[in-house]
Amino acid sequence: MKTVSLEQEINPWEAQAARFDLAAQKLNLDEGLQKVLRYPTREIIVHIPVALDNGKLEVFTGFRVQHSIARGPAKGGLRYSPDVTLDEVRALASWMTWKCAVVNIPFGGAKGGIICDPHKMSQGELERMTRRYTAELVEFIGPEKDVPAPDINTNEQTMAWIMDTYSMHMRQTVTAVVTGKPINIGGSRGRREATGRGIMISCDMAIQKLGLTPDQTRVIVQGFGNVGSNAAHLMAEAGYKIIGIAEVDGGLYNANGIDLRALWEYRQRNGTIQGFTGADKADPAELLITECDILIPAATENQITSQNAAQLKCKILAEGANGPTTAAADDILADKKVFVIPDILCNAGGVTTSYFEWVQDRQGYFWKESVVNDQLEHIMKAAFEDVVRYSETHNVNNRVAAYMLAIDRVAYTIRQRGIYA
Ligand code: GLU
Repeated sequence: MKTVSLEQEINPWEAQAARFDLAAQKLNLDEGLQKVLRYPTREIIVHIPVALDNGKLEVFTGFRVQHSIARGPAKGGLRYSPDVTLDEVRALASWMTWKCAVVNIPFGGAKGGIICDPHKMSQGELERMTRRYTAELVEFIGPEKDVPAPDINTNEQTMAWIMDTYSMHMRQTVTAVVTGKPINIGGSRGRREATGRGIMISCDMAIQKLGLTPDQTRVIVQGFGNVGSNAAHLMAEAGYKIIGIAEVDGGLYNANGIDLRALWEYRQRNGTIQGFTGADKADPAELLITECDILIPAATENQITSQNAAQLKCKILAEGANGPTTAAADDILADKKVFVIPDILCNAGGVTTSYFEWVQDRQGYFWKESVVNDQLEHIMKAAFEDVVRYSETHNVNNRVAAYMLAIDRVAYTIRQRGIYA
């Protein structure tokens, strides 16, 4: 493996490029298609003026990157964070292409981001920023073009604003322009929990392979946002023992298992998990390297790097976040024989249920939650089996297998469609 600086190691674009190059080379993908698929199709940068509550005008920079529309409309979330960069959004957009291909849903990949600190902004400021961002992108998004969804620091309310702004421009209500909406305005039942549910389904499949049952399985979750909290909650209900939760501002540990229902209620009341008395306080960085059966990083990128990968003590790494593991850490984990459920498989439950939401919006017919969850389970299980089978037959690790499977599916479509000239 070539040596890289830490700065390079934690650049998400480099992280995805390293995996893409390896998988493309193993696939013997022809040089031309490698060039097509390595880079995004379209990158849009917008500088959006927003009137702040104090009367001043601020300009925020936003991105929307459409990596591929080969298999269908571009699809992917929108994140708000001070650390957003174009390279990060590019990487996340390409991960969406691979993710949708791994679960075999008819979408390409995209991602959006706005450089801002949403925790320092009022609801009014967030609304005005979201609406202006949407207005700037109005000709590039749409149910048949590019369909945004929630990601870090965006939620159902953000999607409602996008849907409304787009609809005002179209002079008609267009619910299918975004997914992850509130249920009464075209959202899908089960979407909120879907990423967490998909993680649980992947973990169920993985522990079965390792001969474990949920009640024997100790889980540590990093991140208690939409993804981490729902994964922990659903897995606790299914009998898994959640022994640790790590948040940026502190962690919790209880070797006998944390009562997730009580923690959930505590967080509802207090807006934080800090101060919960049903577990001991723990250092979040220590929790990542604490002994457990499943570690679920469900926060941000670059949590498992060449610096800490050797110290991990989990049997299964279930990647709830996008890009939580660097390419340099991959080799260390492979040596340690950690069973990795790669992000583009593990967290694909969210976009899969987004697909159901898009279908329901276009049908104008809404499914029962049990139908949504059954369909999700069916797709996640099939994708898990596809990836594991691919890894066994091609003698590569799960991550390389997932990339190979995805790249192969997208490349096949491009060959079939041909290049328009
Ligand atoms: N932001 C989520 C992801 O990274 C969901 C994307 C979607 O539903 O389109 O997968």
